[in-house]
Amino acid sequence: MTHLHTAAHTSLRGWLRHLAASDRLAAIRPGVALEHELAAIAKRLDGRQAALFPHPGGHPMPVISGFMSRRAWIAEAMGVPEARLLQHFRAAAEKPLAWREVDPAAAPVQQIVHRFAGGAADIRALLPVPTHSEHDHGAYITAGLVIARNPRTGVQNVSINRIQIHGPDRLGILILPRHLHAFFAAAEAQDEALEVAIAIGVDPLTALASQAIAPIDCDELEIAGALHGQPLPVVKCLTNQVRVPAEAEIVIEGRLLPRVREPEGPFGEFPKYYSAREEREVIAIDAVTHRRDPVFHTIVPAEMEHLLLGAIPREATLLAHLQRSFPNVTDVHLTVGGVARYHLVVQLRKTREGQAKNVMLGAFAGHYDVKQVIVVDEDVDIHDANEVEWAVATRFQADRDLVVIAGAQGSALDPSTTVGFAGNKPSPEWQGYGAKMGLDATKPLASAEHVFTRVRIPGERDVDLAQAVAATGAAALVGTPLEAE
Ligand code: MN
Repeated sequence: MTHLHTAAHTSLRGWLRHLAASDRLAAIRPGVALEHELAAIAKRLDGRQAALFPHPGGHPMPVISGFMSRRAWIAEAMGVPEARLLQHFRAAAEKPLAWREVDPAAAPVQQIVHRFAGGAADIRALLPVPTHSEHDHGAYITAGLVIARNPRTGVQNVSINRIQIHGPDRLGILILPRHLHAFFAAAEAQDEALEVAIAIGVDPLTALASQAIAPIDCDELEIAGALHGQPLPVVKCLTNQVRVPAEAEIVIEGRLLPRVREPEGPFGEFPKYYSAREEREVIAIDAVTHRRDPVFHTIVPAEMEHLLLGAIPREATLLAHLQRSFPNVTDVHLTVGGVARYHLVVQLRKTREGQAKNVMLGAFAGHYDVKQVIVVDEDVDIHDANEVEWAVATRFQADRDLVVIAGAQGSALDPSTTVGFAGNKPSPEWQGYGAKMGLDATKPLASAEHVFTRVRIPGERDVDLAQAVAATGAAALVGTPLEAE
């Protein structure tokens, strides 16, 4: 990289110490309940402080949550200014760095080993797994990096999937139709299990890398290495061939079972609604390994840590996709109100009239989750919802600047796509069927003097408030209150 940046944070514990040193890590009183209470406290601190829970539900293993709950913190973990966050992630995704395999003796994650053969261990006793939302079926692992190998090529994939505790050695999992799904389909077609590992408690950049929108047969652990600026140390699992981050806190080793489906859900998901209980894939646990004093990471669903983990890699991908066709696209943002998936704001240095509509069509093609695109000019801060709304209020006319595309493919988790289907249950081929909306909120390239001149006060940015505000109290200058006269 040619730009100036500080060293990236490559370890979870180093990052947590860094947060603690700057009053961004709250130590919670010991013994809060794993059911709802832990998630409630973490949610109240969301975006302000990470939360460390000692002895949750009396369990000896502490739980951590919310250590990536601000965009600025993630930039800080990368060691780059916030304005360079997307470019930096994109550069890493385009130039992955191969991992470095270490011996088990040099892998903290294998310091302690629990083998599950013959009912020798129980996941429910080993790990403090919280129950998050009101109608969740029960305890869920929400921050597990699921790592598997392509049965044909051996190249790994990393994804975060929600994982339900089914029993002492059994987990339920939601697998959306992406890379892990393709690997498992290939194994299942041969009537074989797919070896998997679930890494819990990894550094912020490895967690972020797992969410890259990368091609199949791109091992996201290599993107983590590129973000770290050094190869990620990995170790081979004890019961299978999967390589896992050697510095992780905890790893669950297991197998996705062929031709086995069991009920999973309901579970409160990122759009802040539940997904239904359905027959889904099952993992049999073979071993759990962990550090001597591990920390269990949980992500509170739909809160900032969850939303940002999805948003930043998507934004980086959408920006790259748009800039291939429109080099004058300067930035993109998936808004928090749009659940960091559905509503995209695009900043454009417009050079020709009509360009904004081409750009919105490009954005809809970039990811099927994108449901609404607002295109604004370069002077609009796309991270400020008030600025974006101001642009719509003053530069947009619905009869001229609105684009609606009916009957397109969108997110199946958007509940408004179920309206009109019997029992709000679209059959699989109709799931996510919905409309796209684009708003061109750019001003015309040419206009009469001052029609589109933005009001500014000269010198406003340069005011030094410490100098400008008098040290004496203001009350004396205001005079006596009327009622006291
Ligand atoms: Mn992948």
